[in-house]
Amino acid sequence: MTLTIVIPCYNEAEVLPETVRRLRSVLQDLESKEKITSNSKLVFVDDGSKDQTWALIERFADECSVVQGIKLSRNYGHQNALLAGLLVAQGDALVSVDADLQDDLGVIEQMLDACHDGCDVVYGVRENRETDSAFKRFTAENYYCLLAFMGVDVVFNHADYRLLSRRAVEALREYGEVNLFLRGIIPLLGFRSRSISYRRAERFAGESKYPMRKMLSLAFQGITSFSTFPLRLITVLGLIIFVISSLMGVWAIGIRLFSDLAVPGWASTVVPAYFLGGIQLLSIGIIGEYLAKIYMETKRRPRFHIEKLR
Ligand code: UDP
Ligand code: MG
Repeated sequence: MTLTIVIPCYNEAEVLPETVRRLRSVLQDLESKEKITSNSKLVFVDDGSKDQTWALIERFADECSVVQGIKLSRNYGHQNALLAGLLVAQGDALVSVDADLQDDLGVIEQMLDACHDGCDVVYGVRENRETDSAFKRFTAENYYCLLAFMGVDVVFNHADYRLLSRRAVEALREYGEVNLFLRGIIPLLGFRSRSISYRRAERFAGESKYPMRKMLSLAFQGITSFSTFPLRLITVLGLIIFVISSLMGVWAIGIRLFSDLAVPGWASTVVPAYFLGGIQLLSIGIIGEYLAKIYMETKRRPRFHIEKLR
């Protein structure tokens, strides 16, 4: 089996030499155990870095034949850089890993074993979050719960450390979506999968390339690319307000007809305000429902993948 390790890099010059050193030794080790062939590669994707990252990648590529580089024309973000690497790289099995050495590289061997056992997708799942700030831990864990609640199928505590077989990568190629959230797409591929847990370390050097802004944008992507639940919520809200204000109208008429407690002008101002609000929300919701359909259609996602033919 030929293994290719895909590493997206954005301003990672500080860690890159160490990353290359460690990944090369991982390849050598696996090769000596005869788990992978000698033409296995390391594919570094430079996501429009502003520092020496690309120069370093070029240098390593000159020095040793296992290193390959892909340079993107600008910063497209982690997900796109990763996809570019996956779609361009050769190899029978592709492992994606961050450049910062937070993910335990020792797990790659287990991933390969799982792949040998017939799994097309092997998820690296982190078992600890001590290296995260309390805030990140709290938001991340709740976010996974929120996604599950909205019906998005994601693997809990799995980021983008995973192995994909050639077949899975070819399936992934058919997903033409522009709003990428790989964590949500991979489970949609189907195929046999397995999770392998590992302990996540601190970043080896440099600081996180995922500032709050990028993190929030990814989180939002995860919801809006996979769930129309928020749109549905508007409809439901509109419906509730509509029903309540209708009842309020009936009640106001009742007061007017059967008692002398009616305040002049109250019903004619308050009830329509709620009523119209409800109707408006409901209408927006209905438009939203159609928008959601159009939106899902424009994605042109493949409708199935064939796992076996005989
Ligand atoms: N990354 C990238 N493009 C970006 C941001 C990040 O390719 O726009 C890469 C980065 O170089 C690293 C990986 O994505 O290899 C994960 O980033 P980081 O480790 O900074 O994220 P964190 O672990 O802090 O969530
Ligand atoms: Mg990191």
